Amino acid sequence: MEIPTIASLERSYTEIVDAARSRVIGDLSQHARLELARIYVRELDAVYLRLAAQEITEETARGIIKSLERALARYMAQAEPEIKRQVFRALKHMQEAHAQATAAVPALDVGFAGVPTEAFEEMYKRRALGVVKSFKTLRKWNATRAAVQIEKTLEATLLQGLGPQEAVERIAYALASPNEFTRKAVERYATGGGVQKFMRAGARYANITDEAFIAAKRISYDAWRIVRTEMASAAIEGDRVASIRSPVIEGMKWNLSPRHPKPDICDLYAKLDLHGMGPGVFPAELYPPLAHPHDLCYSTHTFRDPSEWGLPNRAPAPARTPKASEVRRILPTVTPRASLRAWQQVRRDTRRASKAWASLRPLL
Ligand SMILES: [Zn+2]
Repeated sequence: MEIPTIASLERSYTEIVDAARSRVIGDLSQHARLELARIYVRELDAVYLRLAAQEITEETARGIIKSLERALARYMAQAEPEIKRQVFRALKHMQEAHAQATAAVPALDVGFAGVPTEAFEEMYKRRALGVVKSFKTLRKWNATRAAVQIEKTLEATLLQGLGPQEAVERIAYALASPNEFTRKAVERYATGGGVQKFMRAGARYANITDEAFIAAKRISYDAWRIVRTEMASAAIEGDRVASIRSPVIEGMKWNLSPRHPKPDICDLYAKLDLHGMGPGVFPAELYPPLAHPHDLCYSTHTFRDPSEWGLPNRAPAPARTPKASEVRRILPTVTPRASLRAWQQVRRDTRRASKAWASLRPLL
């Protein structure tokens, strides 16, 4: 029988894990987004049915706006556990991928049981410890801010002399304004047709640019961005915790997404040798968090020498601080300000990853 080389084992390992990651970021994200849209449409639908059924006076207008605000609050309250459910599914995918990838390595018998639970705790604890702080996550999502805008718009439109009927309809349209996911969710889940009616009103209100419109569009955009970010983070955390557990993996290597638009912090992660393990390679314990929203960089895995397979992990040494000259060499086309910012983020995020690892250690 032909004995596979380490390089070919690393390759097939990474292929299996990367396929799982693609499913998480592609299919599972789509699914999660649609689930959120389902909750959103159901909540709005109930309010919109009332709207369709009556002549609107100023008093009822205020009542309807209040109900819309409550519907948004209920949406938020349900969205959080829904996203966490999907995150847990994502972590399970990553666990299964590592188990399958390890099964292909000869003469090893390893269990990855419990990886999703561990990774779930780590993901949210690392976040609470500030490892992910550079962009909006679920914790910072505030659809209720949109509610404030909506109320202001009602006041403004009434002051401009628009009738309450028109004011409320404009706001209702903004909230129902069609995007791929609300449309799908309406097709599948809208029961009373209230939302549908306002989606159809589109042409009449399409070029309104008031703040409520912008706020309403933001709700939908934020949901998508948060889902993608949460799922990409879940892919990293699942991969990371399983890699720590793995008896064959030495490090995780940061690889630039081929769709990366312009040089940024990801280039630093992919090219700096911060741990003396080679450019872009980190001990799994200290692999940095997602560098920015919509980040599609991916990890590959480097293997230990077979004589070290199954031995306990060495304690990971913290990342060294990169020199400013190295950063400039990797990011020659970037403005000095942007390159300084990227350098600071590398320092901050790698330090936080070390600190979090030190304080989470008793967990593993
Ligand atoms: Zn990236």
